[in-house]
Amino acid sequence: MKTILITGASRGIGAATAILAAQRGYQVCINYHRNSEAAEEVAAAIRAQGGTAFLLQGDVGKEEDVQRIFRAVDKIGPLHALVNNVGVLEKQVRVESIDAERLHRILTTNVISCFICSREAVRRMSVKHGGQGGAIVNVSSIAARTGSPGEYVDYAASKGAMDVLTTGLSKEVADEGIRVNGVRPGFIYTDIHASGGEPGRVDRLKDAIPMKRGGKAEEVAEAILWLLSDAASFSTGTFIDITGGR
Ligand code: NAP
Repeated sequence: MKTILITGASRGIGAATAILAAQRGYQVCINYHRNSEAAEEVAAAIRAQGGTAFLLQGDVGKEEDVQRIFRAVDKIGPLHALVNNVGVLEKQVRVESIDAERLHRILTTNVISCFICSREAVRRMSVKHGGQGGAIVNVSSIAARTGSPGEYVDYAASKGAMDVLTTGLSKEVADEGIRVNGVRPGFIYTDIHASGGEPGRVDRLKDAIPMKRGGKAEEVAEAILWLLSDAASFSTGTFIDITGGR
């Protein structure tokens, strides 16, 4: 059975990806930070469908936590797939109100986590290191294109950095059996908008979306699972925008 690690899989897009991955035959390592109850619910949903799930608590912004998480995965089985899904944002403000502390928090959780989780995955997957290859998907955002003016340019910049990591790393490991791709969701119904101070953000903005509706976490999960699958065997360093046409 193939093993997948999904960071931030207790809620939202990560949780939907975990459930779909189990349906596609992966044993699923569910990373979460604080909400153990929500993570347990995802694991229970997977087990209720006959799947296999493991809970791996840890803050992916902390290198020691990431190393502990990957050591736990090693005991479960060789890692085939990594989804760098964790992403956070803070209260909607303009750039002139952003301080360095906030920038450190956003960049540590969104960018440094993605680098160190990818590093640990490459060390295990690369055929150069005796691995069997694998696939990585980075969950970016269409904010990398729009810049999120007036809301969270810091968050958008972190997603731009993730996209550059996707491009560069994909080329570094392309002949080592590892594919690295990204998805860029638009407005998706999850809890993340409450962190920005506006839980109803998707409904406020949905008329600006050509499809006139927000997206579902499950619609993002479908793209992630396709990029991880052998059906995408010649795709690396590429991105799927899931935005309803925005
Ligand atoms: P969400 O509903 O807020 O869920 C965030 C998840 O990340 C939770 O499982 C949370 O764990 C976990 N998490 C947060 N900080 C963590 C840390 N330091 N270490 C480990 N886990 C951590 O978010 P979402 O909307 O599903 O977003 C998932 C990804 O999609 C993010 O990268 C986001 O930027 C991206 N995205 C979302 C949208 C959207 O409209 N929703 C659009 C574009 C891109 P706990 O439950 O334990 O707190």
